[in-house]
Amino acid sequence: MVPAMHEEDAEAARAGAGATWEALTAPWKRAFEEAWASFCAGSAGVGAVVVDGSGEIVSAGRNCMFEDDPEVSPLAGSRMAHAEMVALQQMRRGDFDDHEIYSTFEPCLMCAATIRMYHLRRVHFAAVDPLWDGLEEAFRSAPVLARRMPERTVLGGPFGVFGHVLHLCGLGERMPEIMVTAHGTLAPELLVLGRRLERDGRLTTLSARAATVDLAVAELWDDLSGAAALAGASGGRTAL
Ligand SMILES: [Zn+2]
Repeated sequence: MVPAMHEEDAEAARAGAGATWEALTAPWKRAFEEAWASFCAGSAGVGAVVVDGSGEIVSAGRNCMFEDDPEVSPLAGSRMAHAEMVALQQMRRGDFDDHEIYSTFEPCLMCAATIRMYHLRRVHFAAVDPLWDGLEEAFRSAPVLARRMPERTVLGGPFGVFGHVLHLCGLGERMPEIMVTAHGTLAPELLVLGRRLERDGRLTTLSARAATVDLAVAELWDDLSGAAALAGASGGRTAL
């Protein structure tokens, strides 16, 4: 049971979260908007954005694995319908050496390989995925891949936790056992928070109210910052 927050505390939390939301760069804001749209549509709660060399957003997408509307993406409903794939699929042939991708969750094997094939300069992700622990090292062990691997940055903090739990709650009961095990080992505090948010229904209530993503973040701010502090203190791969 989540203790009720005093109204003044809730106000302060909303103000604090609002200030932090405003401090996010435009690509991050858009990536989180896409992730929230994915969650609200019943998909896996991940968003991605590609920017060009001047920082201009040139493509955006969201996970739409559990949807079938081709208007959302031609990939909708397929196992390829990860946010990064949906964003990259919209880009025509070209030279993307100065482009960067933002994702609310660490790119998986498929997305990391596609990002590598596009020769993007940098990949930013909000949260580390315990499932793919070792993937980066595996890629770097292959000389042909290591030659042009993108730089990686992790956003972390409360927004990292938000990206993480949106994905966990988006998958919900559909989360494969191997993912549960990886989280239980490397990010137990985030698995606990994800399970709690599923049980208490706050994310689904916010979705049903058609809340905007910044409001959703504000409502969850205490939990997000608490889990970020725990993850930071754990010293595990989720340390930010
Ligand atoms: Zn992926």
